[in-house]
Amino acid sequence: MRQPLIAGNWKMNGSKASADALLRGVVAGSGGVSKSEIAVCVPFPYLYLGEQLLVGSAVRLGGQNLCTESGGAFTGEVSGSMLADFGCTYVICGHSERREYYGEDEASIALKLTRAIESGLTPILCVGETLRQREAGETEAVIAGQVDGVVDRIGIDAFAGIEIAYEPVWAIGTGLTATPEQAQAVHAFIRSRIAEKSASIAKKVRILYGGSMKPGNAAELLAQTDIDGGLIGGASLNADDFLAICLAGEQTAA
Ligand code: PEP
Repeated sequence: MRQPLIAGNWKMNGSKASADALLRGVVAGSGGVSKSEIAVCVPFPYLYLGEQLLVGSAVRLGGQNLCTESGGAFTGEVSGSMLADFGCTYVICGHSERREYYGEDEASIALKLTRAIESGLTPILCVGETLRQREAGETEAVIAGQVDGVVDRIGIDAFAGIEIAYEPVWAIGTGLTATPEQAQAVHAFIRSRIAEKSASIAKKVRILYGGSMKPGNAAELLAQTDIDGGLIGGASLNADDFLAICLAGEQTAA
């Protein structure tokens, strides 16, 4: 049985004051969550705050991106070891916003996954199709390309230390959500793709769903066989909503 992971992706939102309040709110409510793992992926400037406020709690800290290089003259970049230094457990890699706005592709994402693992972090690899691709019947081909493009570069064994998030691009921040059946079908496809290379890793790898997951739809999504948690954008900016999703995860956990 895979333990559910509910991870918040704050994106580029908040201020020092709001980050402080949100971190405190999540920690205060996290006591009721014992069967799921909780994480918050905060903007870089709030990592120190996160490290301070999450200490002693079960809530884990994550970054939203890292550099393809491990250190040196790369102005404006942040390395995996820096994230680890601030107590991060997780780092999001290949989010669709980074693919779309910053030109990330399988080659750069594979490097980021490698740097993350070398730094002792667990990357959360995001994959997902656009609405045009779904409507053209290309969902599985797109996802296969995104998964294989990384597996072929870093090897299947690396997936023993990677979480995957299926995030249909058309559902991110739009209020549209994949139905539980649509999401389950893609999650099962991803797992089968991994299983072609390693049945044991496919059994263990967690595949999170992301795309307008909210307290009202979380339970149904999280109840699906191959959905092992959620990557939560908008709803993670409100402690009560985020915790309600974590509690929904509790119902489905063993
Ligand atoms: C995300 O960006 O990872 C995400 C899932 O966003 P939202 O929940 O707002 O759709």
